[in-house]
Amino acid sequence: MKHYDKLFINGEWVAPHGSGTTTVYNPATEEAFAEVCNADLDDVNSAFAAARAAFPAWSRTTAAERADYIRKLHAALEKRKDALALAISQSMGCPLEIAKIIQVNCVKAFEKFADRAHEMEVEKQVNNSLVVREPVGVCAFITPWNYPLYQLIGKVAPALATGCTMVLKPSSVTPLQDIIFAEAVAEIGLPKGVFNLITGRGGVLGDALVTHPEADMVSFTGSTATGRRIQQLAAESIKRVCLELGGKSPFIITEDAPLEQAVTFGVKDVMINTGQTCIALTRMLVPASRYEEATQIAKRVAESLKVGDPMDKDTFMGPMSSMGQRETVLKYIQKGLDEGAKLVTGGLERPEGLDRGAYVRPTIFRDVHNKMTIAQEEIFGPVICMIPYTNLAEAIAIANDSVYGLSSGVWAATKEEGIRIAREIRTGGCYVNGGDFNYDAPLGGYKQSGNGREWGDFGIHEFYEIKSMQL
Ligand code: NAP
Repeated sequence: MKHYDKLFINGEWVAPHGSGTTTVYNPATEEAFAEVCNADLDDVNSAFAAARAAFPAWSRTTAAERADYIRKLHAALEKRKDALALAISQSMGCPLEIAKIIQVNCVKAFEKFADRAHEMEVEKQVNNSLVVREPVGVCAFITPWNYPLYQLIGKVAPALATGCTMVLKPSSVTPLQDIIFAEAVAEIGLPKGVFNLITGRGGVLGDALVTHPEADMVSFTGSTATGRRIQQLAAESIKRVCLELGGKSPFIITEDAPLEQAVTFGVKDVMINTGQTCIALTRMLVPASRYEEATQIAKRVAESLKVGDPMDKDTFMGPMSSMGQRETVLKYIQKGLDEGAKLVTGGLERPEGLDRGAYVRPTIFRDVHNKMTIAQEEIFGPVICMIPYTNLAEAIAIANDSVYGLSSGVWAATKEEGIRIAREIRTGGCYVNGGDFNYDAPLGGYKQSGNGREWGDFGIHEFYEIKSMQL
């Protein structure tokens, strides 16, 4: 059992003022393997005081100076990639070999923000005005457990690039990669107070973080319910709020698409990371004429995926991130059955041979209507709803019939046709004909999936103010 009894505030590891600890469990074994200390409100105040004190000097550094720190931090993270993958795999169950790719490859994208720092020096003369960019200030960051390093980098890297300072609180399910990140920060000698890390429960610390008078901006990734509350609380002091929330993403497969390829892509897209991907394409929309064939392909693909020990090289799908998340997913599966959907594969039983751990079978429902709870609410588990449609207009209407608008997918006979359909779907992203995930593309949602964009060149826009000087 590892004990982490310090917070990282003002460039130092300090004992918390708060008492008590949060236990970190391995969801594959249900055993505790680490303990982190809990910050309290005094610790929150200390962290913001440090971030505020650091802001004047850090915000006046040149882009070249900030780029230099980002490159050094990137190198320090590269050295720690194995430790990061292990920490994530052990705390939330992503298979280790897959975690090295989908959880940790984002480290390479960190360095890109060194170049983006120079965007802050872009100035524009507009008639008699000089328009300049200035960092938004002190940021409060709250991240979830499903891609915990990716979400950290998506916030911290643009904040550093633009000259902001920050206080970060990771999910108490997965705090360890953040502690490793802070070790890297300490190693490279980032000016004290620029990056501050506190650990503890969101339910206890959340309000203080998002309403703190020293916080100029709040960036949150997590559930829509928590995001809604954060936006309401932050409204009191008109803070800038960036929200990356949930999704219920549709995947339209057209009549003339290569069905085997499209369905295989769709099933693996959801099952990877055990369905705990905010952009997962969980509503598979299939032409009625090809529905039977599609369900058979989906069944075969889902049943071919190895579910098991995250440390085993052959495992495709590990456990859910926690026993609590397993319970949530099982309740949704039961709800689907109660509402009349039929199982193609999977269901409520444990996967064979896995008598403990937060495991759920890869589950596919057929005969799903888009109004059913399982088609409207985010399950955040390895569950796909296969929904038949009769024509493309109906498919697009079903795709858009959601309170969410985070991501979507289309597989059509040609890329051009795929792009045409993608333009009709009200989501922040769309995967056309199996397109790859891209760290340089902006990510964010329409509707109740949030506001603002992270990653890529657009990812720094949330972090600066625009000033016009009339000359
Ligand atoms: P969550 O309950 O909203 O928790 C997310 C973060 O918020 C955690 O750090 C949590 O801390 C903290 N938190 C909890 N209560 C809070 C409060 N009252 N005030 C402030 N912070 C609070 O979400 P989750 O269930 O962990 O994460 C899964 C959700 O995130 C899914 O809905 C998923 O779609 C969404 N997500 C979205 C994106 C995206 O980019 N759009 C990416 C990933 C995940 P504790 O862990 O300590 O409670």
